[in-house]
Amino acid sequence: MPYDFQPSWLNEELTTYKNTVERFLDTEMVPYDEESRQRGHVGHDIWRRAGQLGILCTDIPIEYGGGGGDFRHEAILYEAMGHRGLTGMSPSVHSIVAHYFLNHGTEEQKQHYLPKLAQGELVGAIAMSEPDAGSDLRGIRTKATSNGKHFTLNGSKTFITNGYLAELVLVFAKMDTPEDNGKFSVFIIETKKHQGYSVGNRLKKIGLKAQDTSELFFDNINLSNREILGETPGRGLYQLMADLPYERLLIADMAMGAMEGAYQLTVEYVRNRTVFGEPLINKQNTRFVLANMVATLKVARAFVDDCINKILTGSLDTETASAAKLWLAQQQNLLIDDCVQLHGGYGFMDEYLIGRMFSDARVQRIYGGTDEIMKEIISRKL
Ligand SMILES: Cc1cc2nc3c(=O)[nH]c(=O)nc-3n(C[C@H](O)[C@H](O)[C@H](O)COP(=O)(O)OP(=O)(O)OC[C@H]3O[C@@H](n4cnc5c(N)ncnc54)[C@H](O)[C@@H]3O)c2cc1C
Repeated sequence: MPYDFQPSWLNEELTTYKNTVERFLDTEMVPYDEESRQRGHVGHDIWRRAGQLGILCTDIPIEYGGGGGDFRHEAILYEAMGHRGLTGMSPSVHSIVAHYFLNHGTEEQKQHYLPKLAQGELVGAIAMSEPDAGSDLRGIRTKATSNGKHFTLNGSKTFITNGYLAELVLVFAKMDTPEDNGKFSVFIIETKKHQGYSVGNRLKKIGLKAQDTSELFFDNINLSNREILGETPGRGLYQLMADLPYERLLIADMAMGAMEGAYQLTVEYVRNRTVFGEPLINKQNTRFVLANMVATLKVARAFVDDCINKILTGSLDTETASAAKLWLAQQQNLLIDDCVQLHGGYGFMDEYLIGRMFSDARVQRIYGGTDEIMKEIISRKL
């Protein structure tokens, strides 16, 4: 029996759901991936379709229109996308937006936005980073002033995932008001409702070519108190910190899926590639490199599954989630580099999935908090 690295938590119900997800990806995403890469985004239709199939916001309670599942349902989607090297759509960022509403929104905000996110009617994005502030979010310049009746938002954001297609953006801004001066709030922006909202360039990247990563601009956008997450200004930093373990585990899990996919692709390739009159897999170096990958995948699976079990019981702490994000993203890059090497020149070709997986992997060590920020967090408890 070949190695398969199945999650330890996969049961019958989850396997049925996994089959639905895989069918969707294989029939409705994989065939159009090259088209999306050329265009620089996946388009709205695929979001609506994923919503119809119940693939979005699977861990949001049913009463808010979600799937009523848990992190394992989310993980099935990210891992299946990772196996296939599908990075155009970012359901993980979409889920993060949903969790901000679930954990910090008022009842009215939850009732209003969560069903729309789950249906894929509104594509979600989260806008924190700015040209001069990424790791150090306290340095953001996007600010909200107040005239006592409403807030006015001005500023810009960059590197925003789903930014071009987004219809619902959570914007992290600094308050410039007498009551909350210098504090932060998360503003809810329905993009089509505000004239002062605009999307800049879809950024040209060295990977994630089908993923729309954009600049966003806010020019005198008037917002009411109801358009602040939780309707309490000044709570933004707390809201941001509260969801970090969830966000970091998502990225670690995406790394898990990508590593498994890259390993499988490579095993298949070296079985079929002939060198010096025999299959490449017969060379001791090839088998040893693959054996190392098996060891990495087994350790990675045990670590990710442990984190998933912890998040299910509410016991995943920020340090452990940061360690998972740090290590899995690093391993993803190392392992896929070895996969490229075993593919020889073909590994460097854009038309080969392994080459694309290599370019896509790099950013995993940057977004969602860089390696260095993860190390800062982990080392706080030394
Ligand atoms: C494809 C992509 C998608 C993204 N999606 C989103 C999104 O949806 N929403 C969003 O808000 N942002 C998003 N980002 C932004 C991302 O989160 C930031 O790029 C990241 O947090 C790093 O910030 P920065 O680019 O400003 O780098 P900087 O913060 O300037 O960091 C530069 C270097 O300095 C290091 N550094 C910084 N602080 C320290 C420190 N204290 N000690 C040691 N070293 C340090 C960093 O680790 C890094 O190596 C995305 C980025 C990319 C590339």
